[in-house]
Amino acid sequence: MTERFDYLVIGGGSGGIASARRAAGHGARTALIAGGAIGGTCVNVGCVPKKVMWNAASVAETLRDAPAYGFDITCNGFSWPKIKRARDAYIKRLNDIYYRNLDVSGVRLIEGWAGFVDSHTVAVGDNQYYADHILIATGGRPQVPDIPGAELGITSDGFFQLEKQPAHAVVVGAGYIAVEFVGLLNSLGTEVMMLLRREGFLKRFDPVLRETLMEEMQNAGVNILTCIHLDRLEAEENNKITLHSTTGESITGIDTVIWAIGRAPNTQNLGLELAGVQTDKQGHIKVDDFQNTNVSGIYAVGDVTGRVQLTPVAIAAGRRLADRLFGGQANARIDYDNIPTVIFSHPPIGTIGMSEDQARKIYGEGWVKCYQSRFTSMFYAVTERKPPTVMKLVTVGDQQKIIGCHVIGEHADEIIQGFAVAVKMGATKADFDNTMAIHPTSAEEFVTLR
Ligand code: FAD
Ligand code: NDP
Repeated sequence: MTERFDYLVIGGGSGGIASARRAAGHGARTALIAGGAIGGTCVNVGCVPKKVMWNAASVAETLRDAPAYGFDITCNGFSWPKIKRARDAYIKRLNDIYYRNLDVSGVRLIEGWAGFVDSHTVAVGDNQYYADHILIATGGRPQVPDIPGAELGITSDGFFQLEKQPAHAVVVGAGYIAVEFVGLLNSLGTEVMMLLRREGFLKRFDPVLRETLMEEMQNAGVNILTCIHLDRLEAEENNKITLHSTTGESITGIDTVIWAIGRAPNTQNLGLELAGVQTDKQGHIKVDDFQNTNVSGIYAVGDVTGRVQLTPVAIAAGRRLADRLFGGQANARIDYDNIPTVIFSHPPIGTIGMSEDQARKIYGEGWVKCYQSRFTSMFYAVTERKPPTVMKLVTVGDQQKIIGCHVIGEHADEIIQGFAVAVKMGATKADFDNTMAIHPTSAEEFVTLR
């Protein structure tokens, strides 16, 4: 027998859970089909465990700075297994909260892997479920390159399973995950090498952010090799790995190789062809601004769509969709412009809007004016290391509307959210200048830029 619902959600991650709970709140009979661990990528193998490790790395840095503040401390070491146990226990608590919240919200949880039977019917094992509205929120998975020996490396998923700290690690990739993992491993004492296939990393970000981060990572001891292409990986004795490049160089004695080269959408086993849902060449589900696929009654949100792969985006898209379908809000949708983002690098990056390059390309040289400042945050006034803070505003037109706001440095991760509100509201340089500074902070520099 086929069970009937108003709304079937496939995928128990950020987007799926948020949408299902919102729909149930509007009174829709809703079921959520969850294949992997509840909470999806963010909770289990993404934002949450990553931030715990970033916090651990920040503690390590603070300990190094402590003597400069007069503390006579001895650090007897860092226990990776201890923080992993605490991290796993925290995630378990979050998983339980997610189960409880689904229950409290009246969402029926179906655990298993879903596949379409037709455009309104989904099968999980031997059971079939029908709904007028079906949401695909199946997220993505890490990619591994197609070279011999690639299986000797791990991905971000494997990173969070590591029971002991790597002594010598190589991270391959040039995006968020690569710079975040390299930074935290380095701060925690792993000898890290980063392999880039081009000259630099974070190619879509403002040059000032990329260049400052590269410089600071190198100052902190990371070995960054550029323009290197791997040919194969080989197992050595003693569980070590050798990496061979296409130009004949080799890197030996590595105990952990981490692939951080992007993610692929989870669309391969969904039976999309049976429902007629179209994907792009990479397998991402094609959606319009309202998250509609090409098939009436089937929608997609989050990483599976390939658009801005961030947790708050998946959540907001899922909620707005539920508001539109079941909450009487015919025009509810998210705005994909000006989405703020943070990279938990060392130092962290906070950014919203256009990079300088992008702005000059779109508006033309004469219309864009940038303001920039580089300084040492007061925290580092007395310490030996002096990582910089760099801020940049990108403005356009006579009104100097702020279309880009970028910061790298201490607390950038917390600074950007407030400024993002101002940018989203259309603030101008004059609005920033008319806002009184808060002293002494780093953030005040944004309202005193000349
Ligand atoms: P997911 O959270 O991936 O959920 C999809 C779920 O669907 C999964 O549980 C999957 O098992 C399940 N599923 C797949 N196929 C099926 C099927 N056929 N049937 C049933 N279930 C299925 N974003 C941030 O905003 N901030 C961060 O700091 C951040 N850090 C990150 C760090 C790492 C290492 C990674 C990998 C990602 C990070 N992200 C971060 C990105 C963020 O995790 C994702 O954007 C977010 O989780 C996407 O949510 P989603 O609902 O689209 O997919
Ligand atoms: P990204 O898309 O951010 O970066 C992957 C990069 O790796 C590519 O841009 C490419 O850079 C490089 N690359 C691709 N293939 C190869 C290859 N074969 N060899 C070497 N380098 C290669 O992917 P991530 O996996 O880092 O992260 C996925 C997404 O998850 C992010 O885009 C982000 O949306 C989200 N995320 C968000 C975080 C946050 O909010 N703080 C943290 C972590 C992830 P190039 O072309 O320059 O070589």
